[in-house]
Amino acid sequence: MKLATYTAQGQTRTGIVVGDQIIDTGLGGTMIDLIRNWDALKPQLEAKAAAGGGMPLASVTLCAPVQRPGKIFAIGLNYADHIAESKMGTPERQVWFTKAQTSVNGPHDPILIARNTMANDYEVELVAVIGKRAKHISVADAASVIFGYCVGNDVTERMWQHAGPQWALGKSFDTHAPMGPWLTTADELGDPHRLGIRCFVNGEKRQDSNTSHLVFNIWQQIEHLSAAMTLEPGDVIFTGTPGGVGAAMDPRQFLKAGDVVRRD
Ligand code: ZN
Repeated sequence: MKLATYTAQGQTRTGIVVGDQIIDTGLGGTMIDLIRNWDALKPQLEAKAAAGGGMPLASVTLCAPVQRPGKIFAIGLNYADHIAESKMGTPERQVWFTKAQTSVNGPHDPILIARNTMANDYEVELVAVIGKRAKHISVADAASVIFGYCVGNDVTERMWQHAGPQWALGKSFDTHAPMGPWLTTADELGDPHRLGIRCFVNGEKRQDSNTSHLVFNIWQQIEHLSAAMTLEPGDVIFTGTPGGVGAAMDPRQFLKAGDVVRRD
């Protein structure tokens, strides 16, 4: 199933995406509420999806599927080509940083370029969203705690990222975590480690890889994170970006006002 958070007639709701239609779940509440109650809700939502009767997807505004995630974690240096272009060594341990909750942004909304910044960069990523409270989850069990997946852009201000040893500020500017366009549930998506992943800027292909090239795969990521903390429904994990970021181009190509960043 494909589940979206959307705004129509001034109200924000959750909906089921079927083809080019979106069907109101009728639930009220947020995507996190839906995720928490997924096992109980799934049969009635499947019935709603089968019944149809939605409205055109093009008539609503899609929001980030999870608008206020409890946590947003992102892994750095997790594709070999991106490690090479960053002139870094392959990390022996997973490199994690956080993005602020206030960086969440809709899939088609503007990315704001803050005053006095000049090195705003894109990073297309597969994003996993947690479905169940999870602590000390093994690689073998990791798939069972993921609710679904979407596309994300780990927008980064490179000057702030590298101003010190800690990347969090450079990763946390307002609007710098666009996500969407909806969550595809884990059961519908299948294997998350064989997905094409691409990013275009003004129609020019900049990133083009496959999630099969992840250095630490998503199951290893869940094992590592859940060894440190309890993961909760709606927590968001950015799983790494492949090569092709603007900072590694010659000359460097940072985002300018008016640029359009797309996944296809
Ligand atoms: Zn990233």
